[in-house]
Amino acid sequence: MMDRRSFLGRGMLGAGALGLSAGGPTRAASLLLDRDSHIIPIRASIDRMFRVTVCLRPFRAAGPRIEAEEVGRKLVIHNYGHGGSGWSLSWGSAAVAVGKAMEVSPKEVAVIGAGAMGLTAALTAQRAGLAVTIYAKEQFPDVRSARATGTWSPDSRVAMEKDVDSGFGDRWESMARTSFAAFQGFLGSAGDPVEWTDRYALSDLSPVQRQAAPPEEATGFSRLEHRLHDITPRSQPLGPGEHPFPTAFAYRNSSLTFNVADLSRQLMSDFLIAGGKVVPMTFHEPNDIMKLKQKVIINCTGYGARALWKDESVIPVRGQIAWLIPQAGVTYGVYHKSLNILARRDGIVVQEVGENDWFGYNDANETPDRQAAETSVRQVAELFAPRPAAA
Ligand SMILES: Cc1cc2nc3c(=O)[nH]c(=O)nc-3n(C[C@H](O)[C@H](O)[C@H](O)COP(=O)(O)OP(=O)(O)OC[C@H]3O[C@@H](n4cnc5c(N)ncnc54)[C@H](O)[C@@H]3O)c2cc1C
Repeated sequence: MMDRRSFLGRGMLGAGALGLSAGGPTRAASLLLDRDSHIIPIRASIDRMFRVTVCLRPFRAAGPRIEAEEVGRKLVIHNYGHGGSGWSLSWGSAAVAVGKAMEVSPKEVAVIGAGAMGLTAALTAQRAGLAVTIYAKEQFPDVRSARATGTWSPDSRVAMEKDVDSGFGDRWESMARTSFAAFQGFLGSAGDPVEWTDRYALSDLSPVQRQAAPPEEATGFSRLEHRLHDITPRSQPLGPGEHPFPTAFAYRNSSLTFNVADLSRQLMSDFLIAGGKVVPMTFHEPNDIMKLKQKVIINCTGYGARALWKDESVIPVRGQIAWLIPQAGVTYGVYHKSLNILARRDGIVVQEVGENDWFGYNDANETPDRQAAETSVRQVAELFAPRPAAA
């Protein structure tokens, strides 16, 4: 998300920039039709939109809750509240949570929840030698994790700067590095559960103008990704004629994409192959955990923790995705104005992300807004529309 942030924060020009950049459009139009171009245009039309989904990011101002709590005779290790960074931080967070469970040397653990956090915690516990049972109300594809964008975004709405303790940055960095390393293990696997893909942040500002632009407006959300600059690629400016988009510049970067359908299938298969069990179960209050035979429980209930644990520090941050039919050869992402597009194997994500991280904050409405989805798809169509050749 770093590119988008820098891009939006440095005074990106508005819709009027479309098709107006000197020298850009003519070449751009021809590149769009160029069979050798790496960038195959997205066929964005309403009839190719096959679903609209909404997800709630489980945001906590103090950052994810990863701590132990004694509930009666049980030891509960909480592992929830990862905001917009749950997939990205999942393995690192699981390592911390399982580490806390191991302090009492259990032979088996229960994991509540089968989303990104539940599956990675369960696998991490298995790899530590424990017998693991997952108890969950929903499984993939019905969990909220299934409705994520699917990009490496480890500091997206993960905390508020003023609310974190002094050790948070270091803990976050350790989790992010652990996760980043763990995801490398999925590269090249059948089904491409994880892969590197290019992202283009579109702008009419040259690199020099971008550099001189006023700094991004502070929103109060923690910004930590700069801590990972040694392991993540730099963005490269592509000038007029070097890219097919309607803006003068496209800043190209590469990032990890999570093809969530296949990733979740692989996580669940690995868990079951290693002897894990899944039991459908809904918990209505914390005392319901007394029914479980396991003494140690890892609580990965995501936004569900707000109701189950009566934890009002979990704030919903709504996000909606319009899904376009996947296209062969289209495996890249685009940030343009407040639009985020990411082509995955299981669908092309089209997402309105607003002007800043406050977009969708404290909005628990999970009903899809079809009209808003269609508006976003029309914006994508405009981006890839053929443009007139220069006279
Ligand atoms: C629009 C959007 C885009 C996102 N994009 C990205 C992204 O690109 N990259 C990224 O890293 N993160 C992204 N996120 C964030 C990420 O999706 C979340 O942080 C993550 O899904 C949280 O996972 P989880 O396992 O904690 O929660 P969930 O997926 O909600 O899983 C919770 C589990 O607990 C179970 N559960 C809950 N309550 C109960 C109960 N009472 N009894 C029994 N079971 C219960 C549920 O059934 C489910 O199995 C995005 C979020 C949204 C909304």
